[in-house]
Amino acid sequence: MDLGRRDLLLSAAAVVAGSSTVARAATDRPLGYAIVGLGTYGLGVIIPQFANCTHSRLAAVVSGDAAKAKRVAAEHGLPDRSVYSYATFDSIRDNPDVDIVYVCLPNSMHVEYTVRAARAGKHVMCEKPMAVSVAECETMIAACKAAGRKLMIGYRCHFEPFNLEAMRLARTGAAGKIRYVRSEHGFVQRDPSVWRLKRALAGGGSLMDMGIYSLQAARYMTGEEPVAVTARESTDRRDPRFTEVEDIIEWTLEFPSGAIAGCQSMYSANQNHVLLMGDQGRIELEPATRYDGNHMWLGKDGREREIMPPPGSGKTQFAGQLDHLAQCVRSGAEPIVSGEEGLRDMRIIAAIYRSAREGRTIRLDGRA
Ligand code: NDP
Repeated sequence: MDLGRRDLLLSAAAVVAGSSTVARAATDRPLGYAIVGLGTYGLGVIIPQFANCTHSRLAAVVSGDAAKAKRVAAEHGLPDRSVYSYATFDSIRDNPDVDIVYVCLPNSMHVEYTVRAARAGKHVMCEKPMAVSVAECETMIAACKAAGRKLMIGYRCHFEPFNLEAMRLARTGAAGKIRYVRSEHGFVQRDPSVWRLKRALAGGGSLMDMGIYSLQAARYMTGEEPVAVTARESTDRRDPRFTEVEDIIEWTLEFPSGAIAGCQSMYSANQNHVLLMGDQGRIELEPATRYDGNHMWLGKDGREREIMPPPGSGKTQFAGQLDHLAQCVRSGAEPIVSGEEGLRDMRIIAAIYRSAREGRTIRLDGRA
């Protein structure tokens, strides 16, 4: 090829590449998140994760503590106009840097800030549990739908490599026909003054906070929706920590295939475990749903072998979660853990509490 023609081709390719780079730059601008509630999770876990994101960035903070908010904003190079209090939160509608509001507040505040965010024209990531009642979940879904905005729940395990691999193994029959799932989640809650032990803020006890991981695991490991639940609670009401909410609660879920799940949560023991038993083997995770350090085994033919998830994108579960919503906003796709997914859990949670209260099995499939 003579040089003139080669140069022409190269420069034409450069123009195409250049224009696609410009086009990509416009559509790939990382979306801006406002973190609402600068507590253990929002400030301590989520904000540092933007460093691992490709499609998301920190754009604003919302806090009741002005000094903390100012300090965090300064540390992350945010302008003063991107610092909000709960009182000034609604003016976030005028901030073009903010695309998504991430609600990291106590559970009973999720509904208010999700609705206000949607009304301000922002997409919403809301922490688990989605809210404290079925009615609140429905209000949140309706508000985001009315505003034409996405709603996603912070179910990080759907982006966690071990749990993803466990789901894949379960779906591809690595343990045979699924017969039984066990899952227990809990930790020792020592301080009686925390909001997690106040019904008005938490909506319930260990089930709302940790049991939701057991419930989620039962659903994503079987890939089925339960048709009935039977629950039992054990709480020492003389213990000052448990005057308002439950300590231990256990429940059995029945699935259409005949599989059952035995789940537990507690605030008086440390436990983090998921086990699936099939007619040809078992998949076990322990710890199962931690931020890191999870382990998994596949048991088959009388032998147990440790399973490592396949090398992934290198993203953490948190960055995967944050970027997923950003990409859904860009593409118009529904998040894999949408508001409807949070609502499904809340319906089951309501039935678990009702079953424990009334001492009987509650059907979830409308049958008597
Ligand atoms: P924290 O108590 O550590 O933080 C909550 C923050 O909310 C506070 O720091 C405060 O932020 C703000 N807040 C506003 N009003 C109140 C109030 N009345 N009482 C207490 N805090 C208030 O809780 P977490 O960060 O641990 O939990 C927040 C949410 O995140 C919960 O829904 C929880 O279930 C969820 N979570 C999820 C996890 C996961 O792995 N997905 C892990 C941990 C929590 P400020 O001072 O800025 O106003």
